Amino acid sequence: MPDDIEIRVLRQRSLGSARTVLAPLTGSEPVRSLYFHVPFCAHKCHYCDFYSIVDRQDRQAEFTDRLCRELDALAPLAGPLDTIFVGGGTPTLLAPHLWQQILERLADRFDLATIREGTGEFTIEANPETVTPELMRTLAAGGVNRVSVGAQSYDKRHLITLERRHDPANVARAVELARAAGIARQSVDLIFAIPGQTLEDWANDLARALALGTEHISCYALTYEPGTAMTARMARGEFAPADHDLEADLYEHTVTAVRAAGLERYEVSNFARPGAECRHNMAYWRQHDWLAAGPSASGNMGGHRWKNVPRLDEYLEGEDAGFARIVEHEPPEPRRNLAEWIMTGVRLSEGLDRAALRARAEAIEPAAVDRLDRALAGHDSHGWISDDADRLRLTDAGFLFADRVAADLMACLDPAHSLG
Ligand code: SF4
Repeated sequence: MPDDIEIRVLRQRSLGSARTVLAPLTGSEPVRSLYFHVPFCAHKCHYCDFYSIVDRQDRQAEFTDRLCRELDALAPLAGPLDTIFVGGGTPTLLAPHLWQQILERLADRFDLATIREGTGEFTIEANPETVTPELMRTLAAGGVNRVSVGAQSYDKRHLITLERRHDPANVARAVELARAAGIARQSVDLIFAIPGQTLEDWANDLARALALGTEHISCYALTYEPGTAMTARMARGEFAPADHDLEADLYEHTVTAVRAAGLERYEVSNFARPGAECRHNMAYWRQHDWLAAGPSASGNMGGHRWKNVPRLDEYLEGEDAGFARIVEHEPPEPRRNLAEWIMTGVRLSEGLDRAALRARAEAIEPAAVDRLDRALAGHDSHGWISDDADRLRLTDAGFLFADRVAADLMACLDPAHSLG
């Protein structure tokens, strides 16, 4: 019997299986990144729109067997892996012996030499409550070399608002256990612009996270995704979202504080010591290829985008030579592929290659280049674009409007677009 969380995810029409997308791509450039999704959580946080179900520990083994068969199916498309990222859900809820099974299967089917040497990256997302010495040792022995700990806030009032159930003291404990097990790299995730949060509250959260001395920190403004409990509560008037000016102040404080701690922004919400950027996420944001396994996981290869069936019961039942059923598939389309490159590239500190942007836009439609030039001139006049002749990069002021700039540039690809 599926639980109430799973019922919330509506059954979606299957579009066949990932095999129909990927089989024709066998023999093309091998993929160097792999994502897989572990769908179990102890509880559903109110802001979360990732696919997860409340874990009753009755389907973990079945899920693991099914995931391993999917990994078997995907392996022939992969080259030596540069990055693996395990998200969820709460991957650290999976029992250590099941992790052992997955890690053995990865080692058996994939080339992990780059990861073993330390130049590659193998990240697992961790909930502070579920990190144990045994699990960290198991993961480290299997090649995991980076842990991303979901702290979100140190303030119990704000954790309650988010319906996030963990003891803030366990964040430092989780980081220490990862270090003690030999997992060299750690990151901490925080959320700001929580209803009722002041600049002082946020400065305190950030200072406590930075004091852990991790090489990487992610700071996301709270968003109200459709279908989440948080959005429903806001609609009922239980609280008001943070004011835009306050949100901008919190973000500006973030940039100042992380720089003072020796980290630098490399993406609008992500900060790292030089060389400690999340390589897996950079692969996403640079629109490189990645394979995907597990319920609701999305992959990208050869310009194709696809998404696995999200519901766990359908994922477990539906199988095509190991491949998962899919509910979305977008074949290569130059306009969409360029729009996605713009959307993620504008948010990166390295920005976009200006010559490549022009060439790709011109290949779609010469008039799109004129529209881009006019849009960029407008943003330049606001002081949002740096004067780098080779790269289209945002200034500090521009980063506050990154999504607006990206949306404007993407709109320039539309022949019906008018700048007025
Ligand atoms: S633990 Fe993470 S994935 Fe699970 S419900 Fe909370 S935010 Fe979502």
